[in-house]
Amino acid sequence: MSRRKVFSSVLLSGLMAGSLSGGVAAQDVSGELTVLCTPQEDWCVKMVEEFENQTGIPTSYVRMSSGESLARLRAGAEAPEFDVWWGGPADGQIAAAAEGLIEPYISPNAAPISDGQKAADGTWTGVYVGALGLCSNQAILDELGVEVPDSWEDLLVPELKGNVAVAHPASSGTAYTTFYTQITRLGGADEGLAFMSELHPNILQYTKSGSAPGGMAGRGEIATAIIFSHDCIKNFEAGFEDLVVSFPSEGTGYEIGAVALVAGAPNADAGKAWIDWALQADTQEIGPTVGSFQLPTNPDAEVSDLSVSLDQVDLVDYDFDAAGAARTELTQRFEDEVAAKPAE
Ligand code: PLP
Repeated sequence: MSRRKVFSSVLLSGLMAGSLSGGVAAQDVSGELTVLCTPQEDWCVKMVEEFENQTGIPTSYVRMSSGESLARLRAGAEAPEFDVWWGGPADGQIAAAAEGLIEPYISPNAAPISDGQKAADGTWTGVYVGALGLCSNQAILDELGVEVPDSWEDLLVPELKGNVAVAHPASSGTAYTTFYTQITRLGGADEGLAFMSELHPNILQYTKSGSAPGGMAGRGEIATAIIFSHDCIKNFEAGFEDLVVSFPSEGTGYEIGAVALVAGAPNADAGKAWIDWALQADTQEIGPTVGSFQLPTNPDAEVSDLSVSLDQVDLVDYDFDAAGAARTELTQRFEDEVAAKPAE
């Protein structure tokens, strides 16, 4: 099968070239850096390795999903253990900033990032973007006699009972993006919750991590995963060649993966050096080397031809600030009104 087959309804983005020199004064930084890392583990490993190599700053990380990261920052607010939070949809960093868990920092390297992809007050800056998609196993769909879903409503058919997975929005940024996308396209929290409730009988499992359903679809445990499209491509590239990506015709949500300085960071200078570095074009080209095909926010970074350009997907008008502000309340409502209910 051609690798292009994984894209069922989008074209591939073009190439841009160039690089940006950093504003990092790493030689002035002493001590160690601890990163709260939300993207895929292999990308966390590679980033930490490269940062240490390039700056000499000893660096360690803990990988946690977006909602878990928020909860961990909250729990450690009196004695923060992390210096910087890198990755995961900005809704998480926005929710953290509202609770005073983030220290604003405007990096000199944030200048080329578009205004829509960073907070004016420096509480978060975008490091990548990517659209939410439907990631289906063609062989399982064929067995079920179901076409590749290309709308949210397609996921509600009884043939898909127990054959769809998405993470839990309380722990996962991917799942919260999924949930808030329904709220956005349907016009309110009640309507979004009603859709998630209708989908509930078809959900085999709400996983902790946002990307886990992609592996389930790849292994044929379910027909369709609701995940970021770049996560589906990562799984396809890893050898799950029955996977196809599609995008809902009603519009889909997207993430701006964000970086933020932790309030009361034990080593704020090292955290700032990481942020400066994470915004550089060459740093943003590391993802595709480990199969992470998010789009870079730095316009000078080269774009992998396996990345899905946002221009080629119908997007809902996702309001990151409103999503972040409502995160805690909405995830509690999801738990009470949807996840806690029996599937029948
Ligand atoms: N994995 C990928 C590829 C992502 O793009 C993101 C979001 O930034 C995540 C994981 C976030 O993980 P989770 O949904 O578990 O919070």
